[in-house]
Amino acid sequence: MANEQLIDQVPSSNDGDKYSLANIQDFKGKYPIQLWFLFLTEMWERFCFYGMRGVLTIFMVDQLFLTDKQSNLKYGAIQAFVYAFTFIGGIFADKILGFRKSLFFGGIVMIAGNLLIAFSPQEMFYLGITLSIIGTGFFKPNISSMVGDLYREGDPRRDAGFGMFYSGINIGAFLGGLLCVYLGKYVSWSAAFYAAAIVMILGVVTFIFTKKFLGPIGASPLLHLPAGKRTTREIMVYVGSLLSIPLIFMMIRNTDYTDMFMYIIGPVALIYFIYELMKIESKEARYKITAAFIFIFFSIIFWAFFEQSGGSLALFAEKNLHHNLFGFSMDPNIINNTANSLFVILFSPLIGLLWFWMYKRRIEPNTVIKFGLGFLFLAGAFWLFYYTRFFADAKGVTSLDVFTWAYLVITLGELCLSPIGLSIVTKLSPKNLSGMMMGMWFLASAYGQYVAGLLGAGMSTPNNKAPLTEKLDAYTDGYYQLAIYALIAGVIVITISPLIRKLMGDVK
Ligand code: GLN
Repeated sequence: MANEQLIDQVPSSNDGDKYSLANIQDFKGKYPIQLWFLFLTEMWERFCFYGMRGVLTIFMVDQLFLTDKQSNLKYGAIQAFVYAFTFIGGIFADKILGFRKSLFFGGIVMIAGNLLIAFSPQEMFYLGITLSIIGTGFFKPNISSMVGDLYREGDPRRDAGFGMFYSGINIGAFLGGLLCVYLGKYVSWSAAFYAAAIVMILGVVTFIFTKKFLGPIGASPLLHLPAGKRTTREIMVYVGSLLSIPLIFMMIRNTDYTDMFMYIIGPVALIYFIYELMKIESKEARYKITAAFIFIFFSIIFWAFFEQSGGSLALFAEKNLHHNLFGFSMDPNIINNTANSLFVILFSPLIGLLWFWMYKRRIEPNTVIKFGLGFLFLAGAFWLFYYTRFFADAKGVTSLDVFTWAYLVITLGELCLSPIGLSIVTKLSPKNLSGMMMGMWFLASAYGQYVAGLLGAGMSTPNNKAPLTEKLDAYTDGYYQLAIYALIAGVIVITISPLIRKLMGDVK
């Protein structure tokens, strides 16, 4: 139904009917060709994003002379802002720009941000990061929404498509994290940011050359307006976002504002969500969007635990782990930074095959159960992080092997929840709100990042010079508690799954 609306609104592409929505969605085989183009575009974007993210804390300590604590706080704030802006980017795409123009604008702003830092790392850092925040906000949610539009309602291949897309995300994340950190540490900081900018240019160029294959997907929602009026509104969005630069700049320079921002954006998003919900006339559509909201709410808990990887797990890896992985010498922080994306790349196709195999035998768990399983894996992973304490030597240094296994388990949890979450949000959202809903999905990540920092800080020993045995006890006690809470969340999701499925109606 929603797709028919889209067809009505949008003229077919220059290629005649070849890339009409119906033809795109009637693709043969497992994946539509357009998925590969979006995969590549997103892969480059994530390269740029994770490249920048990978160097943030070290850069701030090395070049801006911040203390560890200040740089951790700032890192959390920047991460939270990045994901929070996806909510705003999603709304503007739904209402004014459409996904394509949002993506293009976001990409250009990201390139500008990285180039600015590359020109003059110390002076331009905050301005460049501000642009990266705005750019990612316009880019990230909207490319995921376009993946959703490649599938007809009820197409069972959609989850596999998002699984593949998620591999692209992680190939980019892995390469970006590796190359930019290497360049930053061993060549120059400028080189790291130039690399991120160049790769983002590749992403935008890939998109420009392949967007014609998307037919009507991602076109302007305002095609019914005269061109002049439409352009004025679009320009207002561009100008408005550029005008917000000083505000964001100020907020990331002073992390006290982050708390304030996080207290405000959540309730505002909620009020806006309720306002949009009230406007929806069909009861089924309202139920579906409520179900999407429940998924989004639970994902905050997931990310808050998962994102310990950037904070407390990094510090734990630095101090409390042996440099030995299955007999080979290995830096624990490299494992902490790369194991997750490597495991996603390896296991995402396998899990996709497993779901497909189960689907053919009619034993595939439904989406809500998969979501619940995500939490059970999360619990298992934190239990393993906790269990490292039983492998510790007298100095409080413990097994990198067990730590790496825990990363495997946490990744399995992520694969049950994150690509499926993207997919389900596209299934449950009405077309005219899918950008906003995708933005809310990522806003949950923003809160996850924010809460992760608070949890990590709560777990760490107040005294930085405390003996390693004391740090080991403090962190692993924290991980034990996270395991219990993740288990409880998983049990709740699975228990209320019949209710959520009722709200989801015909969506599977
Ligand atoms: N790793 C995934 C990505 O970068 C998910 C991130 C998130 O939602 N927190 O897209």
